[in-house]
Amino acid sequence: MKISSYAAGAWYQSPAEGTLVRDAVYGEPVAQVSSEGLDFKAMVEYARKVGGPNLRRYTFHERAAMLRALAQYLQERKEAFYALSYKTGATRYDSWFDIDGGIGTFFSYSSLARRELPNARFLAEDDPLTLSKQGTFLGRHILVPKEGVAVHINAFNFPLWGMLEKLAPGLIAGVPAIVKPATQTAYLTEAVFRAMLEANLLPEGAIQLVCGGIGDLFDHLNEQDSVTFTGSAATGRKLKTHPSLIAHSVPFNMEADSLNCAILGQTVEPGDPEFGLFVKEVTREMTAKAGQKCTAIRRVIVPREKTEAVLEALKQELSQTRLGDPSREDVRMGPLVGANQRADVLSVVEALKAQGCEVAWEGSRELLGGDLEKGGFMPPTLLFSPKPWDSAAHDLEPFGPVATMMPYESLDEAIALARRGRGSLVGSVVTYQPEEARTLFFGLATHHGRMLILNRENAKESTGHGSPLPLLLHGGPGRAGAGEELGGVRGIKHYMQRCAVQADPTTLMVLSQEYVRGARLKEDVIHPFRKYFEDLEIGESLLTHRRTVTEADLVNFANVTGDYFYAHVDEIGAKDSIFGKRVAHGYFLISAAAGLFVSPAPGPVLANYGLENLRFIEPVGMGDTIRARLTVKSKTAKDPRPGERPTGVVTWAVEITNQDGKTVALYDILTLVERRPESVPQ
Ligand code: NDP
Repeated sequence: MKISSYAAGAWYQSPAEGTLVRDAVYGEPVAQVSSEGLDFKAMVEYARKVGGPNLRRYTFHERAAMLRALAQYLQERKEAFYALSYKTGATRYDSWFDIDGGIGTFFSYSSLARRELPNARFLAEDDPLTLSKQGTFLGRHILVPKEGVAVHINAFNFPLWGMLEKLAPGLIAGVPAIVKPATQTAYLTEAVFRAMLEANLLPEGAIQLVCGGIGDLFDHLNEQDSVTFTGSAATGRKLKTHPSLIAHSVPFNMEADSLNCAILGQTVEPGDPEFGLFVKEVTREMTAKAGQKCTAIRRVIVPREKTEAVLEALKQELSQTRLGDPSREDVRMGPLVGANQRADVLSVVEALKAQGCEVAWEGSRELLGGDLEKGGFMPPTLLFSPKPWDSAAHDLEPFGPVATMMPYESLDEAIALARRGRGSLVGSVVTYQPEEARTLFFGLATHHGRMLILNRENAKESTGHGSPLPLLLHGGPGRAGAGEELGGVRGIKHYMQRCAVQADPTTLMVLSQEYVRGARLKEDVIHPFRKYFEDLEIGESLLTHRRTVTEADLVNFANVTGDYFYAHVDEIGAKDSIFGKRVAHGYFLISAAAGLFVSPAPGPVLANYGLENLRFIEPVGMGDTIRARLTVKSKTAKDPRPGERPTGVVTWAVEITNQDGKTVALYDILTLVERRPESVPQ
């Protein structure tokens, strides 16, 4: 029954009794949790000396492949996690967010990294900046993985997702982690962690686990480390100001409880689809995970004249909630994580009542299985705040199936009330009126990390108020902790050091592994289109022969495409145009450039699949002579799927110039180039 920690490459079970954790449904003992005796200093050193170097040996894409394989491994074993998850009080629906949501985050980050990051060990960000007149001095941001450890401290409510959503971006970045789950549900996290180790897909030292307290862990952190925290604002504040974190400027990402709101638009009438959607969303947020979600709706803000109607509809919807043993299919809401948590929530409800909130509705205590006293059962409770300005609901968070409804008179008042939450993770606006949505969104954007605008158009496909998504930001200002997690590539960058490098074009090209205009070029007698992916070098370049643009070109191109725009075909109109003469179609120029630079016979260049950053800089008239320069800008090897021809993406910088050497067009083309068969591991 004792659960273990995993430190410096070995499982560790503390000899201490530790904290006894009981299951949420019947109050039966499930685990004893203690980290007493763990050598935290050794854990940090192990992460730095073993885990970090091991992870940094791989590229983003290779680490992404590990994550995908790990996600697949967990996916195949998820039923065992579901079975254990019932003990935390979660229904199968609740666990879906935790288990499938967590595994899905690994899948998402894996695809994202392969799609948006280079197959490299560092990340060159944005475009190079020219810092001088002659273009010999440039600047760019380059991000490298930090050489420390990421400490993840998680809340009890998402024992899986909480761990996986923090691990995914950190591991992709190349940073090892020490995971510390909340004691109350650590047994589920430990089971999943064991499976992750069994999979043997991550390099040694990449992950460690602390079940129990963190002892003197923070004393050993330094400037290369980081801490991410999810939990109560009070704990977050305490940990954030730890002297060691302050002394070493250790970044502390905090995601704390917030008093999220849902606002019903003034234009929504009972009977409108949006009215029903609002009621359903509030009900779902009150009852999913028994309201123990950092994103749950706590404040229900509705137009004063519609409070009666909303209240009635909510009562009806909430009364469908069957409370009981979450493993039963007929149960819609399980218990809170334990009797202690229920006691906490009830005390907050009492405080809210003492400060003017009225109980508008309370669900039945009748149970379909489970133990009313020993388990953490509490029926959904809807409060009403008749004086919304004085409401304690803007300050106190009942972390359970409780929400407080409050009326508003105008959109300005709705905005002002929502802002009383002093910063939230998420807010919802339910309206079919885009203007109303705009007023509310811009009134509230400064106070929210995410906003859902819900209406009949998106309801079917909407992921809902409460679900953070891997590609969108999770975190919020002020009371919500002022942290940022997820958000696609942003989440990965939190674990990397951004360094602004200033250098000449050639050095910058070599550092960033990306061609920079002005860098020294390499030319070869072999046409670059005749080379395999591996044989092409960054900065390798081809200067084409010339071609003089004639009237026949303009007319033929106009006829082929049907583009008779006056600037190309109307002598009189063109004279009055900004060019003062007929000019070639821009698309003719890029087509003509392709004709100049391609090597037409079959070869390793398989396809042209796109064009980026196109700019026409100078007009080209009849009689002008153009030529093109094609330069290898960047290369990304792709992992071949089974049966697929191994390829890589080569981005080519194209510059078209005229007879005076002036640049007339600039762009990048993307091609798929075959890899040497012998260079791809089978
Ligand atoms: P806590 O803030 O108490 O705990 C969060 C995490 O911090 C847990 O892993 C906990 O570990 C750890 N922790 C607590 N004290 C210390 C400490 N002194 N040193 C190091 N680690 C510490 O939150 P809970 O999980 O108990 O939930 C309590 C409240 O937090 C809820 O009622 C709710 O208001 C809020 N909450 C917010 C969430 C969010 O996502 N924003 C999610 C969950 C809760 P241990 O369990 O071992 O004490």
